[in-house]
Amino acid sequence: MAILSRREADLLLYGASEVATPVGPAPLTGRRLGQLRVIKDGAVAVKDGRIVAVGRTDELRRSFTAEEELDVSGQTVVPGFVDAHTLLVFASEGFRPEELRMKIEGLSYMEILARGGGIMKTVRATRAAPEGQLVRECLERLDLMLLHGTTTVEAKSGYGLTVEDELKCLRALRRADEAHPVEVVPTFLGAHAVPPEYEGHPWDYVELVVSEMLPKVAEEGLAVFCDVFCEKGVFTPEQAREILSAGLKHGLRPKIHADEFSDTGGARLAAELRAASADHLLCSSEEGLRAMAEAGVVGVLLPASPLTTMLGRFADARRMIELGVPVALGTDFNPNCPVENMQLVISLACYCMKMTQAEALAAATLNAAHALGLSDRLGSIEPGKKADLVVLDVPGHEHLGYRLGTNLVRHVVKSGVLVVENGELIY
Ligand SMILES: [Zn+2]
Repeated sequence: MAILSRREADLLLYGASEVATPVGPAPLTGRRLGQLRVIKDGAVAVKDGRIVAVGRTDELRRSFTAEEELDVSGQTVVPGFVDAHTLLVFASEGFRPEELRMKIEGLSYMEILARGGGIMKTVRATRAAPEGQLVRECLERLDLMLLHGTTTVEAKSGYGLTVEDELKCLRALRRADEAHPVEVVPTFLGAHAVPPEYEGHPWDYVELVVSEMLPKVAEEGLAVFCDVFCEKGVFTPEQAREILSAGLKHGLRPKIHADEFSDTGGARLAAELRAASADHLLCSSEEGLRAMAEAGVVGVLLPASPLTTMLGRFADARRMIELGVPVALGTDFNPNCPVENMQLVISLACYCMKMTQAEALAAATLNAAHALGLSDRLGSIEPGKKADLVVLDVPGHEHLGYRLGTNLVRHVVKSGVLVVENGELIY
């Protein structure tokens, strides 16, 4: 009788009622966005931090011996969530719970700002905080995100708005990344707002961003992307073009906060600059969206943001998918949108933007990884990819999105290591 030689694995997840994953190559557009690969009675084999095989449990148990096995019967395995847009780093004193009441009473964003609230409150707190505090608070937030299944997170600066404070925030992000299993992809957003010191002469602030901040950020290798808040009353498309072009010269790929409250041509500018992503997109023109589709710019949609801003409307995800824009999701975690949980965002994508559960899962994993330039190594459960896996305590992927506001995460594997077990951090 022939002796079958079985391959060795470090970890074998087996017996899953479903392994559900989008399948590359990314980005997924149009109909491909909703086409998941679903394996019933599924298993995943992991070796050296990477996925080596995905298949049915009987097949994988025949072909692998594993040092560690994890029985996930009755549960669903999906890729780790990639949160494509957050402002992770700010001092906790910069949270703004008092503003919810003002919003309920009908005060606008500008009125709240005039009362000394809004983003400037967070900026003051963040400027006053030492780097060590920012690191500690980032780590606490990353723990929460990980417990909800996020394994990679994009994180922007933007609450320093001075040379030293922007660098401090980006250094804090780097230290948090080094100390935590969740992967942090840093973005320089020095152009998040015009600070009060520059009120009335925004071009001088643009000049500071371009000639002082960007070279230092690049020199220390503190960011992968450069982002600008392109919006009426914040930065114009001309200012955004200036900053993002300078970023490109320093090797930072562009991202843009585009057309959130009005159509300022942000989507068009993103296409022109071949940005990695344009984010928000509530008010983008059809022409801008078509240009994005043609240029392959990912549209990062953040449904928790208009919800917490009480706008009463959402980005037109269905139209974007129809036009061939690659759609991704993020929390937009920040003091105005205190949401760490990507499962909630997936639900909002379904209930508020009419994406299917399958589309929302692909947008929160593979396409989100693409928005971070990482889709060749994360975002799906395919051999060769990083073993970032989430085990959900539900019998099928359609529960994700459908179930609203409950943490369904049972286990999380990051780079092949079990870091959340039975809902608790064990790293
Ligand atoms: Zn944002």
